[in-house]
Amino acid sequence: MMTKMVKNGIIVTAADIYEADLLIQDGKIAMIGRNLDESGAEVIDAKGCYVFPGGIDPHTHLDMPFGGTVTKDDFESGTIAAAFGGTTTIIDFCLTNKGEPLKKAIETWHNKATGKAVIDYGFHLMISEITDEVLAELPKVIEEEGITSFKVFMAYKNVFQADDGTLYRTLVAAKELGALVMVHAENGDVIDYLTKKALEDGHTDPIYHALTRPPELEGEATGRACQLTELADSQLYVVHVSCAQAVEKIAEARNKGLNVWGETCPQYLVLDQSYLEKPNFEGAKYVWSPPLREKWHQEVLWNALKNGQLQTLGSDQCSFDFKGQKELGRGDFTKIPNGGPIIEDRVSILFSEGVKKGRITLNQFVDIISTRIAKLFGLFPKKGTIAVGADADLVIFDPTVERVISAETHHMAVDYNPFEGMKVTGEPVSVLCRGEFVVRDKQFVGKPGYGQYVKRAKYGALMADQDVVKMS
Ligand SMILES: [Zn+2]
Repeated sequence: MMTKMVKNGIIVTAADIYEADLLIQDGKIAMIGRNLDESGAEVIDAKGCYVFPGGIDPHTHLDMPFGGTVTKDDFESGTIAAAFGGTTTIIDFCLTNKGEPLKKAIETWHNKATGKAVIDYGFHLMISEITDEVLAELPKVIEEEGITSFKVFMAYKNVFQADDGTLYRTLVAAKELGALVMVHAENGDVIDYLTKKALEDGHTDPIYHALTRPPELEGEATGRACQLTELADSQLYVVHVSCAQAVEKIAEARNKGLNVWGETCPQYLVLDQSYLEKPNFEGAKYVWSPPLREKWHQEVLWNALKNGQLQTLGSDQCSFDFKGQKELGRGDFTKIPNGGPIIEDRVSILFSEGVKKGRITLNQFVDIISTRIAKLFGLFPKKGTIAVGADADLVIFDPTVERVISAETHHMAVDYNPFEGMKVTGEPVSVLCRGEFVVRDKQFVGKPGYGQYVKRAKYGALMADQDVVKMS
């Protein structure tokens, strides 16, 4: 039996910070304690480092078709970059097509990931319509595939957008079946009008992407989704919250006692709308939806993470090269593929800008990048914490090293990094997934295909009785 022992590190979970050794056996944490007997085990020295549970990225789009092109990062390059960044599990969005069986879409997504992923992964399922066929398939999606979260788009008219009736019926079905409904909350109908009008007026530059998707339309859609959730007595997770108007609606819903949760992303915490005005069409590198906002929103988002109005950080990884892909939108901002390469820097940016700058605590940091996500999406306590019986998904993190983020050194397959030149403190040194090194001393030692598909528990199931680690 192969055993490993992590020695001399400081263990950090969402609740605790303490010095201890960890014994890893059969991919799981077998023992936690001081001065454990290391005989027979491969010793990993974590002196001077934090040891925290592997990050879980609840929001990725790998190998995803969009606007006539496909994201640059697939399940291999995307998960390698994720691992370098301290993430050991991702949940990717499985897109569906109207009139097509859900089963077929899920198979397509399995085929994209199988043999490629170097860390574990699960899927969310996009719901674009509610028909008798879809309703009949949903219980199987949950029971057989362990897909317990459904995504509804309120924006991208004529592409992904679903109508309010579909959102409402999805909320009702999710309540019944034990799933969490995720929304992309922007008012797609009004955005459609504003973008057409901008083009008619001859406004074609990247900045018009932001100007035609004002924060009021994100706030409005967020509020509408919250109201429908209340009516359906269901549960809602608002992805990529970018602005004060949306935070306000989520806070209001939570104050009423509704099961409403909110995610933000690193890009909204540290970048702002002025990036879209960069010369030579470089603003296109920062085009994604919702768009970057005026700088003052950043403080609102940080405060919301601090006080619990927002609970998680996703990357919304959706990468396109500047050359040849983002450039498709020269002369028409609506043709710029939406998305950015973020998967690798999610954890480091939150640590450096959040913990190091005193905006959140170290325990909150672990909760925001891992534990809370595991609980909301049915992965806890197998993942998302350091406890006896949990998967040995671990990040050995040097909190003192200083470095500069750059496309020259990142591991994503794209030709730019939106955080280029940003100084951060802290870096994952080694990363283990189920007890095996994926990154060791900053070198990739993982294997495509090692990553396993994870079936997830129903929403809410593990908030009560399943909050118990099964000893084996
Ligand atoms: Zn997304």
